[in-house]
Amino acid sequence: MIELKNVSKIYKRNGTETEALSDVNLQVNKGDIFGVIGFSGAGKSTLIRLVNYLEKPTTGKVFIDGNDLSTYPMSELRVLRKNIGMIFQHFNLLNSKTIYQNIAIPLILAKESKQAIKERVMELLHFVGLEDKADSYPNELSGGQKQRIGIARALATNPSILLCDEATSALDPQTTDSILQLLQKINEEYNITIMIITHEMSIIQKICNRVAVMEEGKVIEEGNVLDVFGNPEHTSTKNFVRTVIQDELPKSVRLKIKHIPGSRLFKIDFSDKTNTVINELIKKFNVNVNFIYATMNEIKDDTVGHMIIQLAGNTVEEAVLHLQSSDINAKELA
Ligand code: ADP
Repeated sequence: MIELKNVSKIYKRNGTETEALSDVNLQVNKGDIFGVIGFSGAGKSTLIRLVNYLEKPTTGKVFIDGNDLSTYPMSELRVLRKNIGMIFQHFNLLNSKTIYQNIAIPLILAKESKQAIKERVMELLHFVGLEDKADSYPNELSGGQKQRIGIARALATNPSILLCDEATSALDPQTTDSILQLLQKINEEYNITIMIITHEMSIIQKICNRVAVMEEGKVIEEGNVLDVFGNPEHTSTKNFVRTVIQDELPKSVRLKIKHIPGSRLFKIDFSDKTNTVINELIKKFNVNVNFIYATMNEIKDDTVGHMIIQLAGNTVEEAVLHLQSSDINAKELA
């Protein structure tokens, strides 16, 4: 488990101070694929560098599995870092070394035997599907293949945590998906906790189970991915969610709505109770329900959906009261 308690980080350079993190509290549980999203400058990289203690907090504490990192001497920090793998946007492979040698680096540093290194490197190459590239050099590989090697190297010392710093930002959408699938496999098969920082909500949507939204050094919203996508609270979170889920009525659709005197427009969330409530509106209140627009999006292994309906007829007022007192989330649109 990773825990940040009241963490602030102030960089001082040439007499100016930048507060990169401000009183951040965060908990990443074992087995999570935890996403941290924010625009450039929000403090995401600083946050991830605090987890492997490449940066120290100015105030506050970082805990890994309950251990306070500020109490670790340098020698123990080295051991700790073996337990935390990291992958990067630009892969950070050594171009003068072969793929085999790149993956072997952390094992050589850990003073493993030649035989153990060989076995582990070949096992990792097999895991990432690139056994035939052992003798190639990084510049002979595609971006996606380079990131697979970056992942193999990060896993070499059997870490229990994997940090991903914009790991798919330099890749095309299809390659991004294959890398995300690989990360999911790592999480499931090796039970490795993964922390991903990104500026793309689609990454969070595809593989994360929890998410923190950062802005100007602060965590402004945090929670279960399905809850945050279904009901974002902060304006910035809503804007991030809108990059992948269209939850507002598009102008082209709005222009085509037939105006019926006395009718009312509602945005409702899909849930297991939605069908029941709509059937009640039709059967009990004899109201016309016109479906104007609907979206359904897959979020990790679940779905989030919204639809916009128009209620019309003589009994609209009673139907609206019923809708508003039901368990489904309904918001009237002007
Ligand atoms: P992000 O990863 O979300 O883009 P960063 O953590 O890189 O955000 O940066 C947060 C803020 O801290 C920015 O204003 C950035 O300029 C500043 N910053 C980051 N690293 C340093 C550093 N080593 N020295 C001085 N300022 C830094």
